[in-house]
Parts: sequence; C-alpha cells; structure tokens
Amino acid sequence: MGLLPPHIVPVTQKLNRGLQPSREELGRYFQTIAPGMDFLELLPFTLQLGGRPMDVAVRRPMFAPLFRKKRRSRREIFKCGRQVGKTSNAAGSMMMNLVWRKNFRILYVAPLAIYTNRLHHIHFSNMIRSCGLPWPIQDQDCVNNVNEKTFRTGSHFHGVSCFNSAGNALGIAIDWIVLDEVQDLNLDFVPQIRETLRTSDFRWESYFGTARGIENTIQLLYDESSGGEWRMRCGCKAFGRDIIPDLEHDAIGMIQRHGVACPDCSRLIDVERGEWIHRHPDRAQDEYGEDERGNPVIVKAGFAGFHIPATIVRDVCTPYDRYLETIYDKLHGVSRYSEAKFLQEVLGISSDQGGRPITPEEIQKASVLDITEDGEGFNAEHYSLLAGGQDWGGSEITSFTVGTIVGWHPTGVFHCLGAARPTGIPDNERHIPMAAFYQRVGKGRMVGIGADAGFVGSVQNRNLARISGIRTANIAYGTKRDFFHAMPGNNFVVDRTTLIYLAYTLIREGKLLFPKGRWFETFTKDLTATYIEDVEAPNGITIRRYCRRKNLPDDFLHSLGYALFIASIAQGIDLPAMLGLGANGSLSSQAISLQQLGEEGSQTLDFFGFTDS
Ligand SMILES: [Zn+2]
Repeated sequence: MGLLPPHIVPVTQKLNRGLQPSREELGRYFQTIAPGMDFLELLPFTLQLGGRPMDVAVRRPMFAPLFRKKRRSRREIFKCGRQVGKTSNAAGSMMMNLVWRKNFRILYVAPLAIYTNRLHHIHFSNMIRSCGLPWPIQDQDCVNNVNEKTFRTGSHFHGVSCFNSAGNALGIAIDWIVLDEVQDLNLDFVPQIRETLRTSDFRWESYFGTARGIENTIQLLYDESSGGEWRMRCGCKAFGRDIIPDLEHDAIGMIQRHGVACPDCSRLIDVERGEWIHRHPDRAQDEYGEDERGNPVIVKAGFAGFHIPATIVRDVCTPYDRYLETIYDKLHGVSRYSEAKFLQEVLGISSDQGGRPITPEEIQKASVLDITEDGEGFNAEHYSLLAGGQDWGGSEITSFTVGTIVGWHPTGVFHCLGAARPTGIPDNERHIPMAAFYQRVGKGRMVGIGADAGFVGSVQNRNLARISGIRTANIAYGTKRDFFHAMPGNNFVVDRTTLIYLAYTLIREGKLLFPKGRWFETFTKDLTATYIEDVEAPNGITIRRYCRRKNLPDDFLHSLGYALFIASIAQGIDLPAMLGLGANGSLSSQAISLQQLGEEGSQTLDFFGFTDS
C-alpha cells in the first residue's frame, strides 16, 4: 500500500491493536485507502453476512471474481449447486458496487417475483442494516423497496421479474445486468435486456443459476463460456493429483464417508485451497485493442464461466454433521436424491433429467389400430364424432404443417385415425392439401377442426374452413387459471401445459390409440421431441412446463392436442376432470398465483406465453 498519509496512521495502529477508532477517523481512513483497494479487500469492512464480516477472500475464495473492482471479463456465468451461497454473494457484489461506485446502475432480473422479494427482504435488507461503513449509505431521499433502491453515491438498483418477456426491463440505462435463476428464465429476451447496457462504459452481464437438464439454457450458456473449474490438489502422486469436481475427474468419488476427499488416496481436501482453471482460457478475459485515438477498447468480450458445486464450499462441507446432511446422505442416505437431482442440485452438474413425458415403448403400446395411410381400415359410423387438429409450420426443417384426425369411440377411447404432413408447398397454399385430407379421411363426419391461431393461422384458418367446408376454430396457447376460455367467433385460449399434459396422459393410460405401422411412426416420433422441466419455486411449489428439444419438430403433438380439444368439447367431455385435474382444471393455476404473489409494481402478463413453433 506504500506510505500512508499521516492522518490515518493512528487508525491503522488502532486497528492493528484491535482498538476501535472513532467514526470520523474511520471515515477519513476509508476515503483515503479505498481507491487503492480491491472490493475483495474492502468487503469485510463494508458488509456483514450472518452477523460477521463478509470475507470472501478467506471463506469463499471461489466467488472472488465477483468482487474484483476491475473485471477480467465483461460477461460471466456461475453454474452452481444449491445452498452454495450464490445469491448472497451476488447480493454482496451488487451492494459493493452500489455503495462504492458513483452513479452505477444495476438491473436484477429473476423469473419469479418471489426471487426479487427474497433478495430484498433477506439479503439486501440485512446488508444495508448491518453495513460497516462509518458513513450512512442511504438517507431520507433514497428509495428502498423491492423493485428499486437508491444510494447516497447516486447508484441505483432495479429488480424485476420476467418469466417470458422483457417488458419489465426495458427503457432504463444500466451498467450491469444480473440474471438470477437463469435455469428458469426464458433467455430469448436477453438480447432485448442487453439493450439497456448500450450506453454504459461497463456493460457487465452476470448469470447465476442451478444446473438442470443438459438442454437447459444454463448449460448452453456455460458451454459458451470459458468453462472454469475449481482445481484443488492432493500430494499423493509424484507430481500431485488434480482434484476437480467434474465428472471426468470423479466428482462423485470425492464424496466419502469421512468428508470431501481425494478419490485416489482418501485424504481429506482443503477445499478452499484451489484455483480457477478454464477449459477455454482465451474466453476467460476480454480481448483489448485500440480505438482510433489509441485508447484501449474491448474488441472481444470474454465470457468467464465458473462451476460451483457444494463440495467446494467450506460452509457446506463443515461441520461434519452438515456435510452428512447436505452432501453425503443425499448420495448414500435413506432419503437420497435421484442421480439426476444429486448431480444438478449438489454438484451443479447438468444431466439428462429423464424428464421424458412419454417413452417409445408407451407410444408403441398405443399404436394398435389397423388403419392405412389412405384412411382405409376404420368405419366412420362407429365413432360419435371426428375432429381435426391443424398446426401450421414454417421452414420445414424443424417446423412442419401437420393435420390430424381424432375420433371419439363409444367405448370411451379416442382413436387417432390419420395424419398428414404436406411438404414442398408454399405457405399460403398449404390449406389446400390439408382440406383434401380432412375430406378424404374424415368421410363427412368431421364436427370441426381446431387450428393454430398463431403464425399464419389468422389467414390460413379461414382459408381452410372455406375450402374444406368444415367449421374451423382458432386455438391460441396461453397460461390460464382454467383449462380453456371460449371467446366469440370460434376463438379459444387453451392452457398450453395442461393440453400437452392431457395428450400424454391419455396415451399413457390407454385412452388414446394410434394407427400401427411405419407410416404413422413418422408422426408419433414428434411426441418424443418434448421434455419436461419442472421449475421449482423457493416456497416448494413446482411449476411444470414442456420444452421442445433443440432441432426436433413437435408439430404432430400440437395438432393432436388441438384435435383432442375440439373432439372433447364437441362431445361434452371435460378432459381435465376425466384425468383428475378437476373440472376445467389447469396445471398453470399455481404458477399464476405464484407470479402474482407479492409482486410490487411490475406485472408480467404473458408469463407462460410460449410460442415455440
Ligand atoms: Zn490423493
């Protein structure tokens, strides 16, 4: 630190002797030394966590990159296990920037209001109350609520929740965006959020989240990053053995009865003696060049990635009974987690969740009807009614135009009687082969067609009705407290999650059968393009959603859902009630209540408004 100015020498002497300097002495002391110090060093003097100074350098060195005054990389991601202190460290880092920088602006984005509430009530409130600085950080002119906080430095915090829309985050100028619980965020709107950084000199982006399925956005982001792993060492080999908590290096073998240990020699590891090593070191920092005046400018933003499993965090690995409870017993104990859950929530490692809504065997078991591609093999008179479902496609690479016909058999079972997927036909003419299909296979017994209202539907649904002579309803997906809402003009809004759930459940319970044979497998294959993601809110409520696997078409699933919907309402069947969800019940009702819970100021309307194909 070099020579200290004379007025602060008494302060350092007092501090060294464990004496308490006066507030004035401390104020002058900090203002003199702070410019030369990193946030990492200032942190213990500034913030408290759990009643003691927050000391990341000593207690959680793996989070140190968050507390650098000068970041090595403008973008960063922390892919974590649960209970590793990700949100308290994110909150601590945000606070440091708010109280030590002038006019610094932070935008915090989380998928549910419950997260912005938790950040305010648990983390920020305690940190502000127990702040160790010898001057007030807020005064009566400052704002301090869930969605907005201001500080005497002129720095500003905005907190918003947006599940599926950037609406709450637009129109403000921001220096640092912090996206939390990104495993549950729809990242399609990140480019819009990034716009808030446009005028900033900092343009920082940080992502935090818990590992999830291998196709989850948190893993996709981590794959783009430098892929940092915390490397510890054991002296048992001649040149030492690397201890790295990933699957390649036996992260599971580290978890031993007596503690976190070397997988080879079982010696206990000091988890804090480690360093970050990066799979792609070139991505771990920004790349600088010069502008026309010779000033340094970032020519390529880095994207530093950090993987933080519970097994490298001392507060989780010690004391021993806490280790048993939070790590060891979840792997070996009576109430152990499934392998996927253990990898994700303890080790912060993404894995295939097995979140398959249906297996190929279940589909095969339901494929029993002797019906040909031309619609031969069934007697339309045997069904109370037939209904169609129409999904309009796009590029014909991962999105196709598919129509299907479903009949209600008096034995209490739906039969899928045929499907068609015309290709190589221009967008605005695809209703023609579809109309021919409904006329030929529907054999004049069609009660109606449910057709995708999105995309080209607003035009094509009318064309289809006109050419086929079959009543065509417009179906829009939404997120609804009830299964569906009917509106004038044959318009319906249907809860997406519920309709997909019902289709899969009907198949699994033997209440929906398909034609057998290779020709129909090209359609039922679409049913396996979907996987389940259960979004777990902190209050224990789980929200289910169905996601499409990257690059796989799922159009038959949607056309099937639309057909089932029309057949059931025409027949007077309450599908949700039939399958145990209650009359006109919806799987999204809890999600909607949860989103509205405690929301202050901001409101997200299209919370679950998926339009993915
Ligand atoms: Zn060893």
